[in-house]
Amino acid sequence: MSELPYSYDAPVSQALFDRASAVTPGGVNSPVRAFRAVGGTPRFMVSGTGPYLTDADGREYVDLVCSWGPMILGHSHPEVIAAVQEAVAKGTSFGTPGEGEVALAEEMVARIEPLEQVRLVSSGTEATMSAIRLARGFTRRTKVIKFAGCYHGHVDSLLAAAGSGVATFALPDTPGATGAQAGDTIVLPYNDLEAVHEAFHRHPGEIACVITEASPGNMGVVPPLPGFNQGLKDACAQNGALYISDEVMTGFRTSRSGWYGIDGVRPDLMTFGKVMGGGFPAAAFGGRADVMAHLAPAGPVYQAGTLSGNPVATAAGLAQLRLLDDAAYVRIDAVSEQIRSLVSEALGKEGVAHTVQNASNMFSVFFTDRPVRSYEDAKAQESFRYTAFFHSLLENGVYLPPSSFESWFVSTAHDEQAVQRIADALPAAARAAAEATAA
Ligand SMILES: *Cc1c(COP(=O)(O)O)cnc(C)c1O
Repeated sequence: MSELPYSYDAPVSQALFDRASAVTPGGVNSPVRAFRAVGGTPRFMVSGTGPYLTDADGREYVDLVCSWGPMILGHSHPEVIAAVQEAVAKGTSFGTPGEGEVALAEEMVARIEPLEQVRLVSSGTEATMSAIRLARGFTRRTKVIKFAGCYHGHVDSLLAAAGSGVATFALPDTPGATGAQAGDTIVLPYNDLEAVHEAFHRHPGEIACVITEASPGNMGVVPPLPGFNQGLKDACAQNGALYISDEVMTGFRTSRSGWYGIDGVRPDLMTFGKVMGGGFPAAAFGGRADVMAHLAPAGPVYQAGTLSGNPVATAAGLAQLRLLDDAAYVRIDAVSEQIRSLVSEALGKEGVAHTVQNASNMFSVFFTDRPVRSYEDAKAQESFRYTAFFHSLLENGVYLPPSSFESWFVSTAHDEQAVQRIADALPAAARAAAEATAA
């Protein structure tokens, strides 16, 4: 693999990546981190403070990934760190119930009205996997509707036409997920209610649930058209299926009550992760109490976890959520808007066709002049321009997601100085995007 054009100035990261590649497939523990979509050597980060990350070569970046969403207060927030240190000092895992997990669940339930009960798990993948199992157990049906370009973690039955890394690498399907798992999954185009009605019509009494990203961020940011989520909810209600809103990315990110706080559509079940863990592995699923009552030990649907509700993770998550008041969201929304207009202005000046889309403070840039409503639309963009744009910004100290199919994330810590660094780096990046040619 020749990665020279992009790696000449990151010798320590390169050496670490060589070591990593010897002991880990592709050198990473989550595929998109490997920079394969944009080329070059992934930067190994050693520390983060506020809106900045520092890599192993000692270079500092304004971070527009924020650990893919969780670091909504920026890195090393002193109050979150203090809560973690206090928890760690008391022990790291007990395998018994603890007050921290109750307090975190109470905070979540208080913020989101349809969330009557929650079960804590350790990753978003576990949350969606468990929610699907519960929906199937509750309805005694097998089929699941999902949408192309929506990513719900690496659950076997949900990898068909998934977003995130599956989109980045254009994987058609994943070997290892069986035909039966895929066969029970009905994949439909996003934002197409007609297709949903047709599917219910074709499979009467068979569909357990519809799962959708509350507002998708794993094919780039593609918000639901007005009425889409409500239409899903209504179709589920009319057909005895459950509406599962995957808020792993949007939860406590797009508002203090997540995407529910924006569109007000009541899900039967919801899933969470990312922000609620404060940078630790904590996630959850929950919703209607009568549905959650089917979960072991209250009911027959089994679900468990050795580290579920871990005291350090719940302390971090709770500290972070308690700091996320209305003023915090006003601030994040404002800085997101500021960066969006800077990006658009820079690309416009160079005559680069682009569309900046946002769902409250989540946003991404598509290199196309047409609105992106579906995964098909997202794939039609000129991704080669993103590659040039990404590397120019990286060289100038701005860290974007290493894929054009991912959301960008900001935090309360992105201040004027951080925004100025982005503004300074944008003109050269826009020029690079304009000059880029398809490989
Ligand atoms: C990140 C994400 C997941 C998976 O969460 P992990 O913690 O990575 O397993 C699921 N759904 C959505 C919408 C996500 O963005």
